[in-house]
Amino acid sequence: MLSCHPPECAKSWSLALAVAGLLTASVARLPGEDKNAAKPAPAPPAQPLSLPGEVSDEQLEDQLDNAADRLLKSGQAVKMSELLRQLYRRSCSIALPKASTNKLSAAELVTRSRAGVLVIGDLYKCKKCPRWHVGVSSGFMLNDAGACATCYHVVNVSESPTLIAMTGDGRIVPVREVLAANPHTDVAILRLDGAGYTPLPLDAEAAIGLPVRVLSHPDDHFFTLSEGIISRYVSIPLQKKGGTVTMMAITADFGAGSSGAPVLNERGGVVGMVNNTQSLYYDPKRGKDLQMVFKHCLPSQYIRELIR
Ligand SMILES: [Zn+2]
Repeated sequence: MLSCHPPECAKSWSLALAVAGLLTASVARLPGEDKNAAKPAPAPPAQPLSLPGEVSDEQLEDQLDNAADRLLKSGQAVKMSELLRQLYRRSCSIALPKASTNKLSAAELVTRSRAGVLVIGDLYKCKKCPRWHVGVSSGFMLNDAGACATCYHVVNVSESPTLIAMTGDGRIVPVREVLAANPHTDVAILRLDGAGYTPLPLDAEAAIGLPVRVLSHPDDHFFTLSEGIISRYVSIPLQKKGGTVTMMAITADFGAGSSGAPVLNERGGVVGMVNNTQSLYYDPKRGKDLQMVFKHCLPSQYIRELIR
């Protein structure tokens, strides 16, 4: 069944228009064309190469939508009202794996870490079809028994009937419970159904200047790897909530849909979790002339402090 995610529709339209433009241009550039000549054979349609790690964003969206539908209908999904009540739990007791001491290349890091990187999905009613669609955010596994981390704001979606998760190796399961959360630091620790997951270890090796990598799903571009450094730590007063939060600013790219994704150091340890972006415009009143995007992450200590 075809899904109708509006951004995807827009993308395929602009691609179709671009291709149509190319065709028109090449036809117009053939002077003295012989009308009786045999038509040239059409070019074969493009085929995917199925390269290592290659994904189809459309297929993954469909798989998520279908699984969400199945989990809702079968009653396996946990009601959102229950998950929201559990957001008041302030600590949990879970086992964590030890951080590694070996440096990894970017290619090794993706191979080792990807299964532990999660899509956390909320559900929203489509305006173009009668189905639920999955809104994509990110997260990562904390241990093999189903504990995982994401942002509080990823979980706190009262309009969604439930939450689901998909691992980097394709398992789609319900979010079973919230184990602990803190709205002030914007951290939530969840438990997924089942066991045998690939955990990513928390790591405190995170000095300013060290290289970091992010594996996340900006705007449904699933499992996008980006690379940068830790550019600064900044204390930000929380005006409405009170208190002051420490943010880790990094130069690795991410965007909407990346919230909750792991920020990994060169040893594959999670030193932070993607949280928000702040755009710097030369003309901020008109939102024109974008100069920089500050990318803010939560240091992994805010996850660790929820674990007894
Ligand atoms: Zn739809």
